Amino acid sequence: MSSQSPRVAVITGASSGIGEATPRALHATGYRVALLARRTDRIQAIANELGTGALAIPADVTDVTDVTDVTDVTDVTDVTDRDSLTAAAQQLHDEIGNTDVLINNAGVMLLGPFSPDQRDDYRQMIDINLLGAITTTEVFLDQLTASPGGDIVNISSVAGRTARAGNGVYAATKWGINGWSESLRQELLPDVRVTLIEPGVVATELPNHITHSHTKTAITDLYDKATVTPEDIAEVIAYTLSRPRHLAINEILLRPADQI
Ligand code: NDP
Repeated sequence: MSSQSPRVAVITGASSGIGEATPRALHATGYRVALLARRTDRIQAIANELGTGALAIPADVTDVTDVTDVTDVTDVTDVTDRDSLTAAAQQLHDEIGNTDVLINNAGVMLLGPFSPDQRDDYRQMIDINLLGAITTTEVFLDQLTASPGGDIVNISSVAGRTARAGNGVYAATKWGINGWSESLRQELLPDVRVTLIEPGVVATELPNHITHSHTKTAITDLYDKATVTPEDIAEVIAYTLSRPRHLAINEILLRPADQI
């Protein structure tokens, strides 16, 4: 990256919540941003609003439909929608430049007590939260390492540090992200910095997709009272990325001030 060129940041799960607030914050400081998600209308509206230097690219970090159809999975490449991500990476390289920053944010939190009935939920969480982040990083790695100065930001969770009854598989995906991030950090330093962000409760749509009805009611109630906003998290991410290259913020755990 030349010192004159705006940095290019790619954000997965950019159609709502933390993933929407982050490109807004980065664009305001001069970044070019690529918004990736499945809800095309939402990312297109955000990109239109941001204007020059913002690009909406419909993309699925993993193809859940195929995953549930697969009965004999012998190779993870069988079940990921790598083609749509590879096309997205090429499109944004051609339209706004080489990727300097990848923010692996896409995720679902399908909480509920452990039960074989929730197996589809478990599959989705593993395939989106964990395998989706890994696959997206694979696809963008060449761009991120093309020259020194890259950043990877992985959005984990307090659940990546503290498991609780009812969040086992969600926590497993976030513990997985934490372990993988630390390994990646050591492999890619010093040219690419890897940062782990672990938020507590943030007011977003995250509980909307919970399928276990009692859990959904309880968690929605909790999220309705949430005080930390996606903008708070976006500000922390922007701060982290703005540090001089000799300083790498490896991990940030942040909670609402009143969260246990
Ligand atoms: P939102 O539900 O608002 O955002 C989730 C985003 O993920 C959406 O933009 C959604 O877009 C995207 N997404 C889901 N599945 C896929 C997929 N297969 N491919 C591409 N994008 C996908 O919730 P948050 O902003 O809260 O969540 C963002 C991240 O923050 C998640 O990883 C979550 O685990 C983490 N987090 C959130 C906390 C909170 O309290 N809110 C706390 C700790 C961590 P679309 O459906 O359009 O594809």
